[in-house]
This record gives sequence, structure tokens and C-alpha cells, in this order.
Amino acid sequence: MDDAASEATADPKRSLHFIEQIVEDDLASGKFGGRVHTRFPPEPNGYLHIGHAKSICLNFGLAQKYGGKCNLRFDDTNPLAEDTEYVDSIRESVRWLGFEWDEEHYASDYFDRLYDWAVELIKKGSAYVCDLSPEQIREYRGGWDRPGKNSPTRDRSVTENLDLFERMRSGEFAEGTRTLRAKIDMTSPNMNLRDPILYRILKAHHHRTGDKWKIYPTYDYAHGQSDSIEKITHSICTLEFEDHRPLYDWCLEAIGLYHPQQIEFARLNLTHTVMSKRRLLELVREKLVAGWDDPRMPTLEGIRRRGYTPESLRAFCERIGVSKYNSQHDMVWLEDALREHLNKIAQRRLAALRPIKVTLTNYPEGKTEQFDANNNPEDPNSGTRKLTFGRELYIDADDFLEEPPKGFFRLKPGGEVRLRFAYVITCDEVVMNAAGEIVELRCTYDPESHSGGANAGRKVKGTIHWVHALTAVDAEVRLYDHLLSIESLGDVPEGEDWRKFINPESLKILKGAKLEPSLSSARPEDRFQFERTGYFCLDKDSRDGALVFNRAVSLRDSWAKMQKKG
Ligand code: ATP
Ligand code: MG
Repeated sequence: MDDAASEATADPKRSLHFIEQIVEDDLASGKFGGRVHTRFPPEPNGYLHIGHAKSICLNFGLAQKYGGKCNLRFDDTNPLAEDTEYVDSIRESVRWLGFEWDEEHYASDYFDRLYDWAVELIKKGSAYVCDLSPEQIREYRGGWDRPGKNSPTRDRSVTENLDLFERMRSGEFAEGTRTLRAKIDMTSPNMNLRDPILYRILKAHHHRTGDKWKIYPTYDYAHGQSDSIEKITHSICTLEFEDHRPLYDWCLEAIGLYHPQQIEFARLNLTHTVMSKRRLLELVREKLVAGWDDPRMPTLEGIRRRGYTPESLRAFCERIGVSKYNSQHDMVWLEDALREHLNKIAQRRLAALRPIKVTLTNYPEGKTEQFDANNNPEDPNSGTRKLTFGRELYIDADDFLEEPPKGFFRLKPGGEVRLRFAYVITCDEVVMNAAGEIVELRCTYDPESHSGGANAGRKVKGTIHWVHALTAVDAEVRLYDHLLSIESLGDVPEGEDWRKFINPESLKILKGAKLEPSLSSARPEDRFQFERTGYFCLDKDSRDGALVFNRAVSLRDSWAKMQKKG
């Protein structure tokens, strides 16, 4: 476990993190006239993932905490990868996390203004049209250990630059033949300041502006100006943009615009999963998962389908904190946040995931009884429900062993166990089929062992869960586990195929689970604790009479134990 996580606490009196400290200093000095205005700026080229959740919680959280505003801005400056499908999904995911934006904007809405500012930069002698090809530009840029060289067209006249830039815009030139570059310093130790590209020719259809534009601004040129247009105060981004900040500042100064403050923080990395867009795309395209919302995916749609609650994600983001140091958080922190929340809110149910039939030979045929079962001992308002009990039951295969080791307190031949909310039973006979598989346990029950009975206090070592056979409903249960079998792909060499680290046990499907009948009215995204087993969420693949439950998380972290054993 790492430092950021161990200092974590949901305590509202926790000390300020460094960005809150900057905001409070700015509020005190009146730097932005007492305003706080942040934005969350996704590029609509993919689905949001848990890493984005950290940025969302941070940006929207600051606005909430300081009575400010937060915009949702689609940073759609690269038409090749962007799509309205992603815009819709992003909106939905931000809302699901529990946030509502003050304004919705698109960088593409600023294309006209950005173009006009580029013309201004040309007129000021601060930008020029460069005729180098992409390979030449790379070559001329130099390296971190050697200065770059000026482009041969760097000193074109303003008139010629204006003419060429206009013709780039009207589509006269082929892609890759010209760019508009800022005239800064080809010898700067900061590579981002070696005459960065502001515009490139791209004859691509844009999801909002259609075929209007033949040139598109780069991220570095569009981002700060978009922040400025929206009067953002604190423009928060991840650490890899630290070296871009001088360029962010340069553009705003050179054009002479209102100047937000860029602040960088460490991105969220989690163990046992992948977050790079490229790898997520490979998983989906190669059908290694069922889609973007596969419950193993770290996408917000996947996490949601798995059974995560927005509250647990927000608690997790709060706990891991905000810092300037890159680190990796153990998935256990995320899972614990979910367990903690579901323990409070999820109703308890009984389910036999791998059922074994139990017949109580001394229980009258045709008789049933109703027992009261507590819905959630953690929630006094959750009430009780009735459980039907009868002669034929199912228990979980995990709760019976023919030849148990010492200290096994569940059911064994000749052993006894208490059935939750019901009676003590004794196992008299194990019935096998020709293949040697257990088909039935023949047991007897102690009629006086129920609460109120003469033997109610009878001490038995174990209590197990059960389902009444005649009224049970069938379900498919999908047991999900970590996507990766190793903690991180960080040490996997470039050329090696990362796919071999996909956990082969990341999904196990159990077809014949038996559940207590009250679960038949569950709706997709309803979450329950299956007692002694884990937290489960009804999947959207469910149909009437064919329930599908996803395991969101087991009751305890069994992974650490398994790894040790293995
Ligand atoms: P791309 O590689 O396409 O740029 P990205 O992960 O940066 O992908 P964006 O859509 O540009 O995706 O991200 C939107 C916002 O979310 C940015 O401000 C980015 O810094 C932030 N963000 C992305 N990934 C993480 C992460 N792992 N942790 C924290 N913030 C993140
Ligand atoms: Mg990005």
C-alpha cells in the first residue's frame, strides 16, 4: 500500500490537499476576484474510466467546496478519433457519478475565434507557416541533449504567412505539407517551446463542425484559449502536462488574453487493470471482453455494471487524495470502498451459487414454514422478509466436505450445522451418482432448535445459508475478478504481448444458481449481499425467469490469500 492511500481519510477536517491550498490562497489574495471556476475537459474519443473519475471528483469537488462552477468541456480538436457516441456516454457517466455541470462547451465551438487569434499571432510575428514535412519537423526539432534548427521558412513575411494560412484553411494544400507554428525558440531546453505546431491540415469530417474545417488546432493551442474563453480560474490537468505549462502561458500572453492558472496533479493508476485507451480498445476490438461496459473493464460504464455505487467511487477518490507524485493504488482500496458502502445499504439475501440438494428426511412432506429474516442488520430501517422453509432445500457446495480438514465448521458426514434463521440439521447420508458426484445430502433436523424451541440455544459451530428448493428461482451468476493476473504492466517489456497477463479467472460463469424467490423482482443495478458470499448486482442481460447476477466484490479480499497460497 502506498502513502497517498494510507493518509487517506473521509474526515471533512482532513488537511487541505495542495490544490485546495492554492485555491484558498487565491481566494484570500483575490487573484480571480474571489471566483472558483474549474472544468472537466475529456476528449470524446473513448469512454471514461476510473482515472477520469478522479479528475471529475477533483474538478467538480472544488467547485462544490468553494461555491464555484465547473464546466464540462469536450476537447474535440482531433476529428479522427472523436464521435458523438462518446459525448453521450461521457455525459451519462459524469451524471451517474453525481455531478451536474454549470456549462457545457465544445472546443470546436471556438474554432472561429482560435483561427482569428492565430491570424493575430501571425500579424505580431509570433507564428509562421512551416513547409517542413512531419519527418523533417521531427529532425529539425533536435533532442533533449541537442538544440533544434530553425525551419527554412521561419522568417517568412507576415503577408506571405497570412496568405498561406488562409490557403491552408481553404483546403488548397495536402495533409502533412504545411503547419502553422509558434515562433518561440528552437534551442529551448523545453522541447514544447521549440516552435510548437498550432495548426495542422486534416481533411477529416468533424462530429460537430462537419466538413467546414480543413485545418485543426492542436491540443496545446486550443486548451488554454478555451479555458480563457470560459473564464476558468484553475485549469487542472495531469502531471505529464507540467512541461506544457510554459506553452500554455506563452499562448495566452502572446495573444493577450485572460489567464487561468494551470495546475498539475498525479494521475490515478490502479493495480490489476489497464487504463490506456489503446489497450482498452484492443480488449474490446479483439473481443477479449464483452464490450466497453464489460464488468471487468475499468470504464465507468463497466464499473457501474459490475455493481459499483457512485458513492463508493467518490469515497475512494476522496481517500486516495490528490498529490504531485505518481503512484499506483492497490485495487483493494477501490473494493473496500464498495464493501463499506454496500455493507450499509445492500439488503441481505440467501443464495446457493453451486447448489447441493438437501432432503430433511424427518420433515413432513408437503409442509412449509415461514421464518423472519433480517434484511440488513446494519440498517435498522431495512425491515424483515419471510423465508419459506420445507423438506427440500439447497445449500452451497462450498459448505459441505466429505472429508473435511480439522477446523471445518460447515457440514460433513455425521456432522451438524445450523441453517441460518432456521433449524440445526445433521447429515446422515451422502447420495452419489454413478460418476461419484454428490447429488443429495439426506439429513435430519431438530424441530426444537428453532428460536422459541426447547433446543433454541443448542450450540453448533457453524451456520450456513440455504434456499428452499420448491420456491427457489434459477439464476446465472457471473463471478468477476481482476482483469490482470499481475499487479501492473509497468515492467512488461515493450515487445512482449501484454494480453497473456489477462487473468484467465477474471470471469467464471455459474449457470445453475438457486436464489431465494424475493430476488425475482430485482431490477438491473439493484445490489444485494448474498450472505456469506459477496455483493451482487442484477445485470442488464437478465430476463423474466432468467436472472443474471454479477459479483461486484467478494465479502473479503480473498485475492491476497490466494496469491500467497499459489
Ligand atoms: P488521451 O490519451 O486521449 O489524452 P486521457 O486519458 O488524457 O486520454 P482525456 O479525455 O483527455 O483522456 O482526459 C480528460 C481529463 O481526465 C484530463 O484532464 C485528464 O488529465 C484526466 N485524466 C485522464 N486520465 C486520468 C487518470 N488516470 N487520473 C486522473 N486524471 C485523469
Ligand atoms: Mg488527454
